[in-house]
Amino acid sequence: MRLKLPNDYDAIIIGSGAGGGPIAWQLTQEGKKVAIIEAGGFYTTSDFNRFELLALRNLWWKPRWTSNYEIGLKDEIALGMGHCVGGSTTIFTAVAHRMPEWNYKEWFQASGLRNEEGEIFSQKDMEPYYDQVEKDTSVREYKEWDDGLKKIERGFQKIGHPFHPVRAYINLQCEQSGCLFGCPTEAKRGTLVCYIIPSVLMGAEIFYNSRVTRILFSQANENGSDKPGVKGIEFVNDKGKIKRLESKIVIVAAGALNTPNLLLDSGIEQVSDYSPSSKQIGQNFGANTATIVFGKFDEVLNDWLLHPLSAHMEEFAQKEKGGFLLEASEVMEGPLSFAEFLVDEEGVPLWGLRQKKILKDYKHFAGVFINIHDANDGRIFRNPETKEEKFHKPVTAEDKQRIETARSMCREAFHAAGAKETINSIYASHHVQGTCRMGEDPRRSVVNLNCESHDVDGLYVVDGSIIPSVIDINPSLTIMALSLRAAKSLLKRESKAA
Ligand SMILES: Cc1cc2nc3c(=O)[nH]c(=O)nc-3n(C[C@H](O)[C@H](O)[C@H](O)COP(=O)(O)OP(=O)(O)OC[C@H]3O[C@@H](n4cnc5c(N)ncnc54)[C@H](O)[C@@H]3O)c2cc1C
Repeated sequence: MRLKLPNDYDAIIIGSGAGGGPIAWQLTQEGKKVAIIEAGGFYTTSDFNRFELLALRNLWWKPRWTSNYEIGLKDEIALGMGHCVGGSTTIFTAVAHRMPEWNYKEWFQASGLRNEEGEIFSQKDMEPYYDQVEKDTSVREYKEWDDGLKKIERGFQKIGHPFHPVRAYINLQCEQSGCLFGCPTEAKRGTLVCYIIPSVLMGAEIFYNSRVTRILFSQANENGSDKPGVKGIEFVNDKGKIKRLESKIVIVAAGALNTPNLLLDSGIEQVSDYSPSSKQIGQNFGANTATIVFGKFDEVLNDWLLHPLSAHMEEFAQKEKGGFLLEASEVMEGPLSFAEFLVDEEGVPLWGLRQKKILKDYKHFAGVFINIHDANDGRIFRNPETKEEKFHKPVTAEDKQRIETARSMCREAFHAAGAKETINSIYASHHVQGTCRMGEDPRRSVVNLNCESHDVDGLYVVDGSIIPSVIDINPSLTIMALSLRAAKSLLKRESKAA
């Protein structure tokens, strides 16, 4: 056995969200010396309350938007993400669905993904990992519908398109007290409670408020391998000091918005001699672009207090059937976020008297969240001169058509349910994916099916960025299952090498 020095780890994991959590737990359970580096703070159940501003500041990544105006497009998408231990799963709405079968075919078309037997990678390959994550995170059917949702549902029933209960990472202790600001009862079973805290209790080391700035690579032939490898990482710790950790395994799980620039900033293109695979980093950005239709009712619904997204409608999710998924009821759980989301008929953010009037009636609103099947036609990179992060993601005519079809169905249902008024929201994305995609063909992907880099030994990417093409359901369960799958394959590889 190799003696480990204090800064020398079996594996370093960057990010503690849906991608980072399961692999951290799996490796720790197997006795590996693991370091988890997380840019955000470490908050736990007792820190979570309904103080919206504090939660936005402590738990959310600072607001980021697409930069579409630079490519002559006027539609911007607000990009939301968690910035705390547990990542976006600490602030997510906890919907836990398996990916539909049809998406696997799209994955194959996007990047040639096949299983070990050479068959198209499919649901049956994922089942054991889905089963495990669902068990670890207490996934169940969530039937406790609130008044707003019940009202909306009556309208959708009337127009012939019923909603169904979601499956959720929520145990029976749920007091329906909100999700987007952290769960105050621990009923929501994200990676914070199910994977990260258990890993830390079993010996994994966590460095929080610590941002990784560079992955350290070794050159090809430096370590007796004809491929470049990883040596460790450099990060800025909570006191602003630059620190180094060493490991021959670095697992990047910084999320689809951050992972590409971290790899590029670290010089992956240079170390891999500008390989075709390195040129794929930051490409194929898909957003599952979302928007909300809010409806105002005479009754007080107090939807902001409750667990959002308790029901969904998959009927139109497949792109050939319309390409939109509906979920309800969503009013952003707080008046500040609600106010920020409102737009007028032209899509211009609402302000002044009209906004004030709507906010006064906040307690009367319910909302339907629309996620569309958009294309992986975006790109993440840095401006070469200013080094600023850039997120290009067109909202195409086809996307707008999908959104308009969904919006008009929601309006019809709201009115059928007795709503007096409806109002639209901005475009947002909470399901960013695809910027370092997984595939067998290095000309079209960054990592293979085991999440290992095509170019660099010991480098893994295990987060939303590996999703080959946009999936038509909330993505976190699939990301967690892929993370477990990567852990199992990494452990197998290590035991063979020993
Ligand atoms: C408001 C909201 C609601 C959502 N609701 C649902 C839902 O109901 N169901 C569902 O399936 N999905 C939902 N999602 C999406 C889901 O949470 C994400 O798809 C999933 O968490 C992505 O996993 P990830 O590992 O890619 O990134 P994340 O979970 O976001 O984790 C990435 C982590 O990496 C950290 N990080 C980034 N850069 C660095 C760095 N340089 N150094 C160190 N750490 C770094 C970040 O701070 C973050 O904690 C929601 C997302 C949001 C924002």
